[in-house]
Amino acid sequence: MHNFKKKYGQNFLRDESILNNIIKRFDVDKTGLIIEVGPGDGALTKKLLLKEMPVICFEIDDSLKEKLDLLKCDNLKIVYADFLSINLEDYIKNNKHIYFASNVPYYITTPIINKFIDSNIIPEVMIMMVQKEVAERLCSKPGNSQYGAISVILNYFFDVEFLFNVDRNCFYPIPNVDSAVIKLVKKKKTLKLNDYDKFKKIVNDSFMMKRKTIRNNLRNYDLEKVENILEKYNLNLTNRAEEVDYKIFVDIANSL
Ligand code: SAM
Repeated sequence: MHNFKKKYGQNFLRDESILNNIIKRFDVDKTGLIIEVGPGDGALTKKLLLKEMPVICFEIDDSLKEKLDLLKCDNLKIVYADFLSINLEDYIKNNKHIYFASNVPYYITTPIINKFIDSNIIPEVMIMMVQKEVAERLCSKPGNSQYGAISVILNYFFDVEFLFNVDRNCFYPIPNVDSAVIKLVKKKKTLKLNDYDKFKKIVNDSFMMKRKTIRNNLRNYDLEKVENILEKYNLNLTNRAEEVDYKIFVDIANSL
């Protein structure tokens, strides 16, 4: 019997129909590479292997090796390491099309997404099971109180879709929260952005204090330029970041 480790978010999916629904929505191109973070005892991995293409899994807990060894096949490589500390480029090599599927360890949802974006490796599709509240935040649109910096950043790179809810009873051990599955599909064409790091910093600074206005949060920037852009979209410095679409943030970042 596996010794479940709470610190690694180990709640394993035990519902075949949910796994099948995830796989059905995971459109891949066989010339690409699938990456999974946290295979656990391999419930999702088994289904990913049905896609008949290379799969690389990163699992932090090497006590799962005995279970995962049962899945051994030519298409599967399992790396026992903390996904956040590996060098992604080392594993991707010439693969242009990356696909990501994961029942994500709850405590590192945003760091996983940021790791891809910061490495400039944007998967074609990311299908992720995450905590329900996190799914709502990642999929929210301007004007919604859940809308935050990560929603803006995701909207820049991806078309974001909330797929379905997953009840906590579908897992063992049963977690304290419900989950949801979301799907991110890489945009065919992104808006021109002069400097991604600058964009990310402005977005993060704008949401620094959520209840505060843009004037307050961006007081260390050239506010006249920020105001000029906001006015183009019928907004002004007294608006809050949660009212600002990602396209406007792109425009602001390019103007500063
Ligand atoms: N994929 C399995 C499933 O759906 O049943 C397990 C999902 S469980 C929610 C999360 C898995 O991620 C666990 O196996 C855990 O050990 C692993 N994990 C947690 N943190 C990790 C990290 N930083 N890098 C790689 N794997 C991690």
